[in-house]
Amino acid sequence: MKHIDLEKECNTCSKPLILNYNYKDYRYRQKDYTCEDCYSELKKKEHKENMYVNGKYVPRSHALYKPGKYKSFEDAAFSSFEKYESSTEGEVYILTNPAWKGWFKVGMAVDSDDRCRGYQTSSPFRDYKVEYRKEFKDRRSAESTAHRRLKRICKKHEGEWFNININKVIEVIESI
Ligand SMILES: [Zn+2]
Repeated sequence: MKHIDLEKECNTCSKPLILNYNYKDYRYRQKDYTCEDCYSELKKKEHKENMYVNGKYVPRSHALYKPGKYKSFEDAAFSSFEKYESSTEGEVYILTNPAWKGWFKVGMAVDSDDRCRGYQTSSPFRDYKVEYRKEFKDRRSAESTAHRRLKRICKKHEGEWFNININKVIEVIESI
């Protein structure tokens, strides 16, 4: 392809922009005057600043945003434990396992899927399931309110596990 001197400079490194040499025409159409070299540097930098948890992109607005690739939020939190401890937002979730029919675990986590994956590692069947979740500004107080109310109305309870109809559990969490 023919090189065409556009008589413009890269707005980052000030080198002349030569079409099909160090510049692509779609960028010209977008009025983005960045040469190929500068553009790929920019992309590399952007990539380094992204956060991925279990392969999923996490936006910068997330309470636990921290650049890098992690297996789980808790994994990410190890190197910024303070941030993890001080962030109050999160979810209250209902977890089930087919081994315990009629029993529901009510817990809290920054991210329920993350927590569920943690449980799977302790089950040979990988059969824990998040049945329901709701976000709260303060996950700890929402969880303790839920536990308190559930203890009053459930048939039986063992730690964070409650023997009760799931609709009742959802009702309790929804009412917080
Ligand atoms: Zn440049």
